[in-house]
Amino acid sequence: VKEKGRDAIEFFNEDMADKVSRQLLMEGDLHRAFEDRHFELCYQPKIDTESAKVVGAEVLLRWRHPEKGLISPGEFIPVLETSGLILDVGQWVLEEACRQLKSWQDQGIWQDDMRLSVNISPRQFRRRGFVDDVIRTLQQIPIVPHTLDMEITEGVVIQNVEETIFTMTTLSTQGISFSLDDFGTGYSSISYLKRLPVAALKIDQSFIRDIPHDRNDRVLVETIVAMGRLLGLEIVAEGVENETQLALIRDFGCHYYQGYYASAPVDAATFVQILTAVEAQ
Ligand code: C2E
Ligand code: CA
Ligand code: CA
Ligand code: CA
Repeated sequence: VKEKGRDAIEFFNEDMADKVSRQLLMEGDLHRAFEDRHFELCYQPKIDTESAKVVGAEVLLRWRHPEKGLISPGEFIPVLETSGLILDVGQWVLEEACRQLKSWQDQGIWQDDMRLSVNISPRQFRRRGFVDDVIRTLQQIPIVPHTLDMEITEGVVIQNVEETIFTMTTLSTQGISFSLDDFGTGYSSISYLKRLPVAALKIDQSFIRDIPHDRNDRVLVETIVAMGRLLGLEIVAEGVENETQLALIRDFGCHYYQGYYASAPVDAATFVQILTAVEAQ
């Protein structure tokens, strides 16, 4: 009994300690990864549902782990957020994305009516100094105005709507547009849509997945598209994986989509190949 009891306690402690130490281990790994420049960006084309033209891209972060290979952000963004590392990494993503964008613009690969979208985490967006950092970045890396977009979730608003609107309006005067990401998954998407100066809404892929066989999801997506259009917004469907989904959202009037059906997120060189292949058509 004594043996068993001790084992149980140890098991319990180990289990909790395990979680904490795993988090700390990863935090250390992420610190080092950032210093050693093991983060990289990939790009997922955003496609016009009617013309099939590339209208822009979303920047997505990747961690190239020396042993484990390429790691997706779902596994480490939460740790970046809780540790505060997201502030430095997020600023790096913005700078790196602007450098890449400017280089494509200088080479004539990136048209002036295309936009590059960068994900901004709530913590990064709400940080005092965020606006100054963005403005300084744009001064250092002078991209063509109106070619940068920021994807935010309603998580940015949790504290202060007025402040959020102020930040967005200030950055809008710098030629930055905003997209409301993961639309429909939060608690108050619709009320924020009314109040925030967003140019586009992105319908979360959880709504798109089942539209071929789920009537309720079809009704939801069709209604979101119609509402968004009436509000004068651009509508982007996320996670389009097949022709059936594409045909449906196109019929609903959805302007743009992203998803494996067109292309998974790819490295910069592959993205350029996609751009030039589409142009050659
Ligand atoms: P998100 O912003 O909603 O990005 C869309 C995610 O869906 C990406 O996952 C993308 O690879 C994936 N995806 C694209 N097309 C398809 C498809 O057809 N089917 C399926 N099943 N998935 C598809 P990823 O790259 O793993 O990123 C996950 C999340 O991590 C992103 O979700 C975003 O919230 C966050 N994230 C990524 N990069 C950054 C970043 O630079 N900064 C911040 N703050 N968050 C980022
Ligand atoms: Ca996004
Ligand atoms: Ca999304
Ligand atoms: Ca998502």
